[in-house]
Amino acid sequence: MEKTLSIIKPDAVKKGVIGKIIDRFESNGLRIAAMKKIKLDEKTAGEFYEVHKERPFFGELVEFMTSGPVVVMALEGEGAVLKNRELMGATDPKEAEKGTIRADFAESIDANAVHGSDSLENADREIKFFFSKEEIL
Ligand code: GDP
Repeated sequence: MEKTLSIIKPDAVKKGVIGKIIDRFESNGLRIAAMKKIKLDEKTAGEFYEVHKERPFFGELVEFMTSGPVVVMALEGEGAVLKNRELMGATDPKEAEKGTIRADFAESIDANAVHGSDSLENADREIKFFFSKEEIL
């Protein structure tokens, strides 16, 4: 069964909508295979977002992702990567379709409530980045 990585970002954790976001996943056939609440440090956030290192917003992204606790999850289900991306909505919440997580819970392109892997290959790398085999059940 396909797996993908989801992160509930600091803005959504601060707002107290962890449960509401998890409900979107569970109500749409995505099972939580692994989950933890952590606070990323600069080094870990920088490594996780290494692909964006050259982008102009990299510094802001790392600063935001380390600004408070996050909830990291491995979600499992049929077509999990794409399904999660559909449930999340567009990166910029102003462009996100009605009823998506970002349309309903996000404020801006940087404080956009959730992260989700964008390919199977990245999902595999990102899940391994946060979870050991024993933590995925
Ligand atoms: P995603 O896969 O939809 O999360 O989007 P990307 O992979 O393109 O970007 C990763 C993350 O970087 C996004 O979720 C945003 O938090 C952040 N980001 C993307 N574009 C911008 C931008 O123009 N400005 C800022 N501040 N952050 C951005």
